[in-house]
Amino acid sequence: MSTALKPLLPGSTLGVVGGGQLGRMWAHAAQRMGYNTAVLDPDAQSPAGLVSHHHIHTDYLDAAGLKQLAAVCQAVTTEFENVPADALAQLAATLPVSPAASAVAVAQDRAREKAHFVQCGVPVAPHAVIDTTEQLAAVNDNLLPGILKTSRMGYDGKGQLRVTTRDELNAGWAKLGQVPCVLEKMLPLASECSVIVARGRDGTMVNLPVQRNLHRDGILAVTEVFAGNVPEALANQAIVAAKAVAQELNYVGVLCVEFFVLADGALVVNEIAPRPHNSGHYSQDACDVSQFELQVRTMADLPLTQPRLHSPAFMLNLLGDLWFADSSNANAAQVEPAWQKVLALPGTHLHLYGKSEARVGRKMGHLNITAATPEAARAVALQAAAILGIAPF
Ligand code: ATP
Ligand code: MG
Repeated sequence: MSTALKPLLPGSTLGVVGGGQLGRMWAHAAQRMGYNTAVLDPDAQSPAGLVSHHHIHTDYLDAAGLKQLAAVCQAVTTEFENVPADALAQLAATLPVSPAASAVAVAQDRAREKAHFVQCGVPVAPHAVIDTTEQLAAVNDNLLPGILKTSRMGYDGKGQLRVTTRDELNAGWAKLGQVPCVLEKMLPLASECSVIVARGRDGTMVNLPVQRNLHRDGILAVTEVFAGNVPEALANQAIVAAKAVAQELNYVGVLCVEFFVLADGALVVNEIAPRPHNSGHYSQDACDVSQFELQVRTMADLPLTQPRLHSPAFMLNLLGDLWFADSSNANAAQVEPAWQKVLALPGTHLHLYGKSEARVGRKMGHLNITAATPEAARAVALQAAAILGIAPF
């Protein structure tokens, strides 16, 4: 179904709303291919702004800032989940924006997101939408114990409370400020995985291989990717589901779909991120096309080719905790981790995001490990973890 698209060729300027690490790695990918980049982010020291040709530091909804961004670039994307969908809608009046504001708006709201999954026929956790005290009172007991999640603005496990009893549920909703929430039944997770798909304006879709993810304290800690990391039937099911979710949104760009694998082997979709995702960072060093290059290709209407995993890979997240030898003492002096020891190990690829201040729980960078076999990659990943003070997995 390939309608001829006129690509934006290298030499053009591509823009991003949001200047975090995802924007920075996107900018690196775009610049490697000969594009100029422009970033809109209020922070003058934003990781992506620091490496871009243009850095507009205004608020995301500042009319002058948005106008300036539209004036310097030929297409715009986003890297920040909670970017106001309105900012994207405003930009779309004058230039191609991917993903569309309408798709981002679904991903920003857990209730709408869940309704979308149901519409796609993809299994979701049993849940209830809680916007009112009436809905709170009507919650079915079989959703307890559960996790109460704010419908909007949550990330890295923030805006979530585990509730076991009805009293805890009521107190929890009050604690979250009685904002719109979704209560999800607590499911027995055997593991977690995710799939990244890229969909072009002409409907072409490609995917990265299924990632197996380990979360700690609600934050991604380790991703492992190699043939057999999850059973093949499950991997295929996840890829089919992820593509259906993208297709039904008429999505253009890179989309991550996160899944739970239950104790009985069933697959349940958790949530989507309308952008490259932390669990796809391994693709920078282990695939022939990274998730960031896919983002560049989708926004520039360049061809999408199916990525190939050329090396088994592990990704370790480098949280700010590692900068404090004693992470229980937030006042202790920051000490740079011993990168030279990690880089002495074969197949290690260090990515740091240029954030000057380390804080506990803050994503400072990641370490990709590639090797000829999964066993060799795991062995090096465990050695690197031991050097850095990351708990074994
Ligand atoms: P992200 O940074 O991925 O956007 P988030 O704050 O949106 O995180 P979720 O993905 O909803 O949060 O949940 C974070 C983690 O909490 C999950 O990866 C999973 O480990 C656990 N979790 C969430 N919902 C459930 C559930 N219904 N049953 C069991 N565990 C869950
Ligand atoms: Mg999540």
